[in-house]
Amino acid sequence: MNTDALRHEGNMCPAMLAARTSSLCEQAMRPLSLPNDLAPTSYLMDEENRQLFISWSDGHESVHPYEALRRDCPCAWCAGEGGQKGSVDEQTVFTPEQTTLYELQLVGRYGVTPVWGDGHHTGIYTFERLRATCACAECRAARGK
Ligand SMILES: [Zn+2]
Ligand SMILES: [Zn+2]
Repeated sequence: MNTDALRHEGNMCPAMLAARTSSLCEQAMRPLSLPNDLAPTSYLMDEENRQLFISWSDGHESVHPYEALRRDCPCAWCAGEGGQKGSVDEQTVFTPEQTTLYELQLVGRYGVTPVWGDGHHTGIYTFERLRATCACAECRAARGK
C-alpha cells in the first residue's frame, strides 16, 4: 500500500477548476439546472462514519454515506444499460471493501468517479447527480423526504 492510500483529504485539481471558462461549448454541456460555475472544490472522507463530504463552489457541503453512494453507482455494470438490468439494486449486500471509499477522481468538468476498496471505479457521478443525492438535512427537506 503506498502513502496515497493514507490520504484522507484531497483538493480537486486547481488547474482544472481555473480552466472553467464559459465557452459556448462548455455551456452546452453543463446541466441546465445548475449555475454555470458550480463545481466541487474539495472533499473529505469521514472514515469513522463512512461518509463523504464534498465542498462546493457555492458554499454548500454535501454529504454522501458510502453505502448509498456505492448503491447509486451509475456505471453499466451496476446500474445496467440499454434495458439490461444491472448487478446492483436495493437488495444488494455489499462487502466492506465495496463500500469503502479509497479516493475521489475528478472527471473532466462535469463529474467525479469514486474509487472503491474493491477497485471498482467505473461510475461517473455528475455534479448534478451528486447534488441531487446530497443527504444533508437541508437537501432532504428540500426534496420532501
Ligand atoms: Zn458501478
Ligand atoms: Zn445538501
